[in-house]
Amino acid sequence: MRSCKMPSGNEMPIFGIGTWRMGESRAKRRQELEAIKYALELDYPMIDTAEMYGDGGVEEIVGEALAGIRKRPFIVSKVYPHNASRNGTIAACERSLKRMKLERIDLYLLHWRGGVPLSETYEAFFRLREAGKIADFGVSNFDTDDMEEAATLDKGLTGTDQVLYCLSRRGPEYDLLPWLRQRSIPLMAYSPLDQGRLLSKPALKKLADGLGCTPAQLALAWVMAQPGIVTIPKSASRERVEENLGALDVTLTPQVAAELDRAFPPPKGKQPLEML
Ligand code: NAP
Repeated sequence: MRSCKMPSGNEMPIFGIGTWRMGESRAKRRQELEAIKYALELDYPMIDTAEMYGDGGVEEIVGEALAGIRKRPFIVSKVYPHNASRNGTIAACERSLKRMKLERIDLYLLHWRGGVPLSETYEAFFRLREAGKIADFGVSNFDTDDMEEAATLDKGLTGTDQVLYCLSRRGPEYDLLPWLRQRSIPLMAYSPLDQGRLLSKPALKKLADGLGCTPAQLALAWVMAQPGIVTIPKSASRERVEENLGALDVTLTPQVAAELDRAFPPPKGKQPLEML
């Protein structure tokens, strides 16, 4: 499995499973746990979660899925902006560790920019890193101006910016992605299937048919074909968890890439960062 180097020198896999909208219904808990366990059986190398998801419930499901596994995946979690003060971030991280029954989170992110001064959050990130409770830290939903501010505080160690990016929402290509690439910071693309909305686009379907793959696999392969981008599609279905992993075997020809550019044009100017 390909990986991306973060500015700290640590590697992050280019592919993992997302978990938003899990942990919200008792009736679906078993299916969600099974989907994550199945992803781990299939050697998904990364899980993305957050204290927000299911109000901590998803981190508990992740903890259950991790019990007794032979190869620990790379774990990403996130702190709520309203918890992201100097002491609040540390307390939130400790709660996340407890729910997942882990000693360390591989990459810990500020979920989005809130009212707490960024300097406090970064101070907490450094303390957590020194204590070995997180290996790397980063941010989410930061546009270029927020990244500029983060760069004054992060000692060159922000590990990623996790943002909305997929074929139908290519805004970050204009300025954010080049900004990140210049500093060797991987972009983590969330909602790579636009939460399923992309999959009914006729152009995507036609090109996927031509390649002998599914629209979801082509949409994911397109994201991962680009250097410095990692992605985390969510599925709570065993079939789709397996299908999405198959994206790693899809080779994007230059001709298909050009046709995708025609159907889903790149941005021609600055677009404010979208958020879901
Ligand atoms: P997504 O991964 O683009 O799409 C997930 C949706 O697509 C689900 O409804 C899923 O349904 C469906 N799906 C998945 N694979 C499919 C396939 N092969 N064929 C058809 N449908 C499929 O959207 P997302 O969950 O918003 O984003 C991914 C992850 O990014 C999240 O789970 C979360 O971890 C992270 N995220 C972070 C932020 C942030 O602010 N940092 C925001 C949004 C998302 P089933 O489950 O029924 O398969």
